[in-house]
Amino acid sequence: MSLLQDFERYPLTFGPTPIEPLPRLSETLGGAVEIYAKREDCNSGLALGGNKLRKLEYIVPDALAAGADTLVSIGGVQSNHTRMVAAVAAKIGMKCRLVQESWVPHEDAVYDRVGNILLTRLMGADSRIVADGFDIGIRRSWEEAIREVEESGGVPYGIPAGASMHPLGGLGYVGFAEEVRAQEAELGFTFDYVVVCVVTGSTQGGMIVGFKVDGRASRVIGIDASGTLEKTRAQVMEIARNTARLVELGDEIGEDDVHINPDYAYPAYGVPSNETNEAIRLAARTEAMITDPVYEGKSMQGMIDLIRRGFFAPGSKILYAHLGGAPALNGYSYIYRNG
Ligand SMILES: *Cc1c(COP(=O)(O)O)cnc(C)c1O
Repeated sequence: MSLLQDFERYPLTFGPTPIEPLPRLSETLGGAVEIYAKREDCNSGLALGGNKLRKLEYIVPDALAAGADTLVSIGGVQSNHTRMVAAVAAKIGMKCRLVQESWVPHEDAVYDRVGNILLTRLMGADSRIVADGFDIGIRRSWEEAIREVEESGGVPYGIPAGASMHPLGGLGYVGFAEEVRAQEAELGFTFDYVVVCVVTGSTQGGMIVGFKVDGRASRVIGIDASGTLEKTRAQVMEIARNTARLVELGDEIGEDDVHINPDYAYPAYGVPSNETNEAIRLAARTEAMITDPVYEGKSMQGMIDLIRRGFFAPGSKILYAHLGGAPALNGYSYIYRNG
């Protein structure tokens, strides 16, 4: 029985995402563990897809019920999340007002013209860049944007950064865990670990609730890409607890259920280290799997390093949750100009 049976879902994705083995990457890392990827990056036809759509499927029914005509959200200049909110607004026939904060220092002259923000503008969103720096919490500029829409006669529906600190934001990734369990039944084995990038927290927070059911909450290995560990950890905890209550899990989420590794977020949010770049190249050259310098490159780096250090017992099956994000690569063309 699904924890989500009482919640309305507005379909924005193709359905269950594929799980594929990554044999060349596994072999290159010594062959002691088997790596698989769950391709959340290929989950939809909406503007290249990604993890935010799974969350938004449970938020859109609430926006429609509220009689809203404008989705209002916030993220960095190269935010995947705001791209996906713009996509959803276009798809359901709403307007979209976005605050794009200056979260990342950048050297590419076209950083604010390509990739996510280009797609966002193409879909007709009213996207405005502001000078504020990185922060995963609730922001005044977002609250002001909501008020502005109201004052100009619109009916705004606010979606916070990453769709995370929204009461329904954790539901989508509860569904991920249920989907993995169904796929495991078909595959005939279970995964020992899930590796996932964490920043605003509702992806891992939802997974923790979904995997608490079969005792695997702490087997969800969050790789922090925020560089603000304490804040991210507290936000994951809050989302997991609220979501557990919402779905009537009947079990409390404890500190031991939340595993977040802070070791790969350096030097800063949105800035890849040399090791991040090597991980991006390795995944691209062994599996043609494209990861980005902000999020998935860091979780890829973390998984690779943890495998090399023997963190996972020999024989382990590891599921790498690929959450999307490749469009941001275009904002980093100088780093990858020679591959
Ligand atoms: C938003 C995002 C994440 C982080 O997910 P949170 O739910 O914010 O923790 C990771 N990878 C990609 C590609 C994202 O867009």
